[in-house]
Amino acid sequence: MRIETTRIAGIDTPVSRVGLGTWAIGGRMWGGADDKQSIATVRDAIERGINLIDTAPVYGFGRSESVVGEALVGIRDKAVIATKVALDWNDQEKVTRNSSVARIRKEIEDSLRRLRTDYIDLYQVHWPDTLVPFDETATELERLRRDGKILAIGVSNYSPAQMDAFASAAPLAAVQPPYNLFERAIEKDVLPYAKQHELVVLAYGALCRGLLSGRMDSSTRFDGDDLRRNDPKFQPPRFDQYIAAVAALSELARDRHGKSVLALAIRWVLDQGPTIALWGARKPEHLHGIDDVFGWTLSEQDLRDIDAILAKHVTDPVGPEFMAPPLRQS
Ligand code: NAP
Repeated sequence: MRIETTRIAGIDTPVSRVGLGTWAIGGRMWGGADDKQSIATVRDAIERGINLIDTAPVYGFGRSESVVGEALVGIRDKAVIATKVALDWNDQEKVTRNSSVARIRKEIEDSLRRLRTDYIDLYQVHWPDTLVPFDETATELERLRRDGKILAIGVSNYSPAQMDAFASAAPLAAVQPPYNLFERAIEKDVLPYAKQHELVVLAYGALCRGLLSGRMDSSTRFDGDDLRRNDPKFQPPRFDQYIAAVAALSELARDRHGKSVLALAIRWVLDQGPTIALWGARKPEHLHGIDDVFGWTLSEQDLRDIDAILAKHVTDPVGPEFMAPPLRQS
């Protein structure tokens, strides 16, 4: 099966519309990670045609980027690396937003070193930092782009007004918001904005942190530092509502298309517009269903019935806001 691709302005290589998300392979907040397995996952993704690898300095405080860098030794030219900038952390691992010029200048060098490369394809501001004017951050990223250290600029978790302010000083190519069947807030503002301004949308949490993988039931529990222990979606009684919705979606995917709910969840993201689905796979087997995502689309009737399933089962929805890192104090 041929993987669907898209274009991100500034990057010559066509980019796969499924990207590998590497937060969990950073080893923090997801119950640990095994670097060997993580490296195998990145290489397997590239072999399967998933060339977009999304990472960030904060994922495991450098570990995710280092693992990605190691995995890409010898095959760097086959990958489109998307990483991020502008989160800071202290010795106690407390994370804060910091989009200052000084922070960007330090982070770009750290990221290039860890990723073992001399350029980053897509460099994204991780979270808006309201203590720094958006055009100041944008101007610094544009300087990096002109220097050839990055090829394209993106932002993540920005509102349209924040993107407007940012785009006054640098060409914006992509935006990375949360987006999946259960988390659809961007349909009101960010998605229409992206369509209007021809931005590519890197939808994060495309499987809603594994909920839409189909592997969970009401008895599923999470170990260690796994963030899903505190994620309000995964707490009873609400968790049961989401699990019931997944069961109904599984039935629809199987009966109408002969697909898994995971394939349906990714397909749904891809059918919403100029999107790329970020899939947080942590072992090679996780990606084995990738071919099922391509070569079909959901009909208008499917989309209506999916909405009806969500409305019926998820009567107490909640968003992903718990993940937002705190704003800095001035
Ligand atoms: P996700 O992709 O929605 O879910 C990831 C989880 O799904 C994995 O940890 C794994 O869970 C499960 N999974 C994946 N493939 C599976 C399969 N084939 N079978 C069964 N389970 C499977 O969540 P995410 O990692 O949060 O989001 C994806 C990426 O988006 C991240 O890695 C990161 O690159 C990006 N992201 C960005 C931001 C931002 O602020 N910009 C925020 C969040 C995420 P188990 O642990 O249960 O095996």
